[in-house]
Amino acid sequence: MMLLVIKMNELIIGSHVSYTNAEGLAGSVKEALGYEANTFMFYTGAPQNTLRSAIDMELTKEAHELMKQNNIDIKNVIIHAPYIINLANNKDMDKYHFSINFLKQELKRSTMLGIDKVVLHPGSHVGLGADEGIKNISTALNEVLDEEDGPIICLETMAGKGTEVGRTFEELDEIIKGINYQSRVMVCLDTCHISDAGYDLENFDKVLEEFDAVIGLNKLGCVHINDSKNVCGTHKDRHENIGFGEIGFDNLLKVIYHDKLKEVPKILETPYVSVKDGGKDRTYPPYKQEIAMIRAKKFDENLLEDIRNYYK
Ligand code: FE
Ligand code: FE
Ligand code: ZN
Repeated sequence: MMLLVIKMNELIIGSHVSYTNAEGLAGSVKEALGYEANTFMFYTGAPQNTLRSAIDMELTKEAHELMKQNNIDIKNVIIHAPYIINLANNKDMDKYHFSINFLKQELKRSTMLGIDKVVLHPGSHVGLGADEGIKNISTALNEVLDEEDGPIICLETMAGKGTEVGRTFEELDEIIKGINYQSRVMVCLDTCHISDAGYDLENFDKVLEEFDAVIGLNKLGCVHINDSKNVCGTHKDRHENIGFGEIGFDNLLKVIYHDKLKEVPKILETPYVSVKDGGKDRTYPPYKQEIAMIRAKKFDENLLEDIRNYYK
């Protein structure tokens, strides 16, 4: 009983990790464990393309065992769909159908891997206008989500760069309203993106109230925790390390430890730290140190230096 209580109150936190064909899901779990994370997110191949290999079921089984042994609940693990999928633009019908079919395949892969949640960027309307874009997205998603059961698509809140759709809670709500199987769609809230979109994280309670009023808190499936290189409302989408950007450590902690978000997995997508190594520029993942800093609830201004030293 006691154990159960402790587990329920544990912060669910992890980061983006890699997924390689050689090591499959097992490699992703090992990377997450290296960061002392209890969840993680990955692309099933390169994020910018749609080349995908068959899922290795042996490595998948090994991954599931590793997760069980290490207190990672697979329900909290997230797949991110490649960002070249664009469901908002149907000017080129070939590309539109390619995106739809690719997403269908991606959901099949997530089912094979045993993972329930797939984060998706809604898309860019590329001049059609947000209303057209929203319609196109709902139509496409209904083709992909053609039955009651299966993985959930978490539509990500976007910064509003270019013609991105999903820059307001209202736009996401419009997309969701158009979906036939409501249980198959949720939202992924990205702190960098919503700040860039104009939601002020100085007052996260107010932002969350707005989210609840427009979309509903029951629809919140994932949170991306990123600081932003830019001030609120600039529509840039440039992530920064935790506490080193314009949102700031204290405001991010309020999101991470918010009472109403306890059950929602938190995923870091902060930039790798670069080190000049002779003439070469090397980069290293900041996640182990950022997760430790978040658990300690105390900002460490020397964190980036510590990371460089750790990987030296
Ligand atoms: Fe994303
Ligand atoms: Fe994100
Ligand atoms: Zn982003």
